[in-house]
Amino acid sequence: MLTKLKDLEKDAKKSIEEAGSLEDLKETRVRLLGKKGDLTTLLRSLGTAPPEERPVIGKQANILREELEQAIKLKEQALKDAQRAGRWEEERIDVTLPGRPVELGQKHPLTMILDEIKEIFIGLGFQVAHGPDIESDYYNFEALNIPSEHPARDMQDSFYITDQYLLRTHTSPVQIRTMERLAPGLPVRIIAPGKVFRRDDDATHSPMFHQVEGLAVDKDISFADLKGTLLLFVREMFGPEQKIRLRPSFFPFTEPSAEVDISCIMCNGEGCRVCSDTGWLEILGAGMVHPRVLESSGYDPGEVTGFAFGMGVERIAMLKYGIGDLRLFFSNDLRFLKQFG
Ligand SMILES: [Zn+2]
Repeated sequence: MLTKLKDLEKDAKKSIEEAGSLEDLKETRVRLLGKKGDLTTLLRSLGTAPPEERPVIGKQANILREELEQAIKLKEQALKDAQRAGRWEEERIDVTLPGRPVELGQKHPLTMILDEIKEIFIGLGFQVAHGPDIESDYYNFEALNIPSEHPARDMQDSFYITDQYLLRTHTSPVQIRTMERLAPGLPVRIIAPGKVFRRDDDATHSPMFHQVEGLAVDKDISFADLKGTLLLFVREMFGPEQKIRLRPSFFPFTEPSAEVDISCIMCNGEGCRVCSDTGWLEILGAGMVHPRVLESSGYDPGEVTGFAFGMGVERIAMLKYGIGDLRLFFSNDLRFLKQFG
């Protein structure tokens, strides 16, 4: 029986030593020291040993039990340490690795152009005004001298929401809203940037685009003030050598009205594909505020005069950056957008 005990000891120590995981070790413990474990079974059969050997065997067995408990405890600690070390290895931060680049956003080219436009006009004493994207028929048409039967309403195919409300087709309603606020006597100098909406969609038209409206109303404002203001704007935006040309045109809300061209920025007026060999590029519409528009906003056309203009922000960005397709502004293609950083 003492031999059996010796064998058990050898086998048990080997099993504990070889346990590869905490689970293995737990199983080994049950197999050796559990209620039906090897050592327990051996002790139960103590009664079959010769009486004089029993105390010796019992003593040896108890020593062995303690030794095994101790060995299991040590092994358990070793396994836990190894496990923790493994986890630590996985989570270890290698400070010598190169950093992951964090991409910085940048301004959209249209925002950049808009900022530039605002800065130029703020420098001239204009304030920035805003109006709602959803406009009433009255502000979008009626008050701008475009009555319901007027053919100009067909010129702008509009997105109507109800009979009375639509997505504004131009930023001109802000003229009316501003004048209503300041009438009858205060001078007006505003630009009104914002989104406008029309039923157009091709390389040079989008159903949504941006306009900047300009309006100045005061005593003795003349056409010369309009021309001087626009010339200064164009030279700030496109360079000091720029020329402008005004051609007679028609808008219901200005009289007289003009289309404003700048000398072609591609060929300096020599004539090229971009300007269709004319040497000029159209960039905005303008004119003197129609007396009826002044009247419907509460100003006395006998007392004050005013000029107004409206420009497309995309148009200016396309000219300034040489972009051929307007849809690029709205396609969110990073390869395109990153060129403007
Ligand atoms: Zn040209």
